[in-house]
Amino acid sequence: MTATIIDGKVIGESIRKEVAVGVQQRLDAGKSRPGLATVLVGENPASQVYVKSKQKACAEVGIESFGYELPREAGQEEVEKLVARLNADPAVNGILVQLPLPSGFDEEKILGAISIEKDVDGFHPLNIGRLAQKGRDPLFIPCTPAGVMYMLEKEIPSLEGMNAVVLGRSNIVGMPVALLLVRANATVTICHSRTKNLPEVVRSADILVAAVGKAEIVRGDWVKPGAVVIDVGINRVEDATRPRGYRLVGDVCYEEAVEVARAITPVPGGVGPLTIAMLLKNTLRAANLQD
Ligand code: NAP
Repeated sequence: MTATIIDGKVIGESIRKEVAVGVQQRLDAGKSRPGLATVLVGENPASQVYVKSKQKACAEVGIESFGYELPREAGQEEVEKLVARLNADPAVNGILVQLPLPSGFDEEKILGAISIEKDVDGFHPLNIGRLAQKGRDPLFIPCTPAGVMYMLEKEIPSLEGMNAVVLGRSNIVGMPVALLLVRANATVTICHSRTKNLPEVVRSADILVAAVGKAEIVRGDWVKPGAVVIDVGINRVEDATRPRGYRLVGDVCYEEAVEVARAITPVPGGVGPLTIAMLLKNTLRAANLQD
């Protein structure tokens, strides 16, 4: 079997177009242009790249972005003050504090300071708590997990009763993905660094979501024939043939898994483009909720 490739660029583009239409409809109705504030603390090069691409994506769909950059010396209090100011600013519908924060910052406190109506990253403890509780709905779902679910629901009409295995239990990917799968009535197993017999557990998955951050840890013979595989991992491996000296691979060995799975996401060009598309979608939703 050769898997269907789930093309994140194409899916992401269609979501962006929908958002652009939604923004235009607001403007045509005389409403405000949606605005996203990005808060970048410190000088992590990867974070700088992510924030730039989020701002560029905003511009492309007509969302205004307000970029705030603070040196790591700014300290906890200054970041909290900035968040409070943005909470009160009517031009700002969504606030994104780029993670990870430099060491020494209390991430939980800063995320908790964001008004939940502006929590477009979905990491406020109230939004995450509601995600975990039956009969409660978060205002926003974290962007990468939302992207994972969007792809799965496009591929599989009903996830009900399916065996889903999630590799990774991080706050930003693994755990919210697992919670969303439970809400979709899948039977969910969460694996992590202490899981025993990982290949065997993975082989039980009709749906496999890998969010580990270890290059190609999942081999083809771990994948159940016919499974749907969503690879969230983004890992650099040295490659002297590439101009930059490295290439990006996922947590799944794509060449092997593509022969076994029914459908699979590539890296790059899989989950990545969906993450930004979902941020734009959440920002438009925030603006519509705040009217
Ligand atoms: P993280 O916070 O480092 O979490 C990694 C998780 O994997 C942890 O739960 C860890 O277990 C588990 N793990 C580590 N080694 C393992 C092993 N050998 N076997 C089984 N589980 C293992 O990472 P993250 O932030 O969730 O990100 C995961 C990956 O997704 C990274 O490659 C990241 O770059 C990528 N990512 C991509 C996007 C996107 O837009 N495409 C967005 C976010 C992240 P413990 O809990 O026991 O430590």
